[in-house]
Amino acid sequence: KGTLYVVPTPIGNLEDITFRALKVLEQSDIVLAEDTRNTGKLLHHFELKKKMISYHEHNKMAREEQIIEMLHNGSMLALVSDAGMPGISDPGYEIIRAAIDADYSVVVLPGASAALSALVGSGLPTDQFYFYGFLPRKKKDRDQALQLLQSIDTTFILYESPHRIGDTLQLLADSLGDRRVAVARELTKKFEEFIRGNLADVSNWVNENPIKGECVILVEGIKLEEEANWWTDLTLSQHVEQLIE
Ligand code: SAM
Repeated sequence: KGTLYVVPTPIGNLEDITFRALKVLEQSDIVLAEDTRNTGKLLHHFELKKKMISYHEHNKMAREEQIIEMLHNGSMLALVSDAGMPGISDPGYEIIRAAIDADYSVVVLPGASAALSALVGSGLPTDQFYFYGFLPRKKKDRDQALQLLQSIDTTFILYESPHRIGDTLQLLADSLGDRRVAVARELTKKFEEFIRGNLADVSNWVNENPIKGECVILVEGIKLEEEANWWTDLTLSQHVEQLIE
């Protein structure tokens, strides 16, 4: 019976591939790759020659039947994305779901993922956290997301692309008020760094000194007593408004 292996790949430093990931890639019949050219380079680096087919955002529905058929025929498949853990802000969820539903084994290898390294290095509480991923692009959806994030009382994690990081930090500073934040940049690479501080300062700094490279934003959750005060303030101000009327 076929098996779907989910294989994380490095997020910048090739040494972060695991022995087991290499073994599974080597033994797999087919590699399902988000981008076959990218994965081709990775395989080439590790001197692996493998048959690949693409599995990405735009063909994931069309591919499903074919992939399930391959599992049915007993294939060992390795699902990889461009970087990090497939299924985490990357393609993967739908095919994993379909394989589980069709009763095939899904084996997930541990490995690099930007979210966890960023969280642990942020200096913000790690006991509980909320992963959001990329903020929506459309204003209406983004406003809704910010409203949700406003009330999260644990550290939360956002992914962002380098050319939007300044705007996003500004938006967070405007809508979340004074919170601690960390921006994790170029993780596992030569210029890896964490920019830590309060939201307003970090937002100003990043907007004055544009940063390059991929980033994870980590924001301190709302403090429960703060949330209580926020509600009380709101009730008070509503009350005052009523008194004035
Ligand atoms: N599946 C990946 C994972 O497990 O981390 C995430 C893929 S998502 C399309 C890409 C985003 O992950 C980037 O925009 C950035 O927010 C984050 N990211 C990936 N590599 C990173 C790195 N080396 N340093 C900081 N952030 C990174």
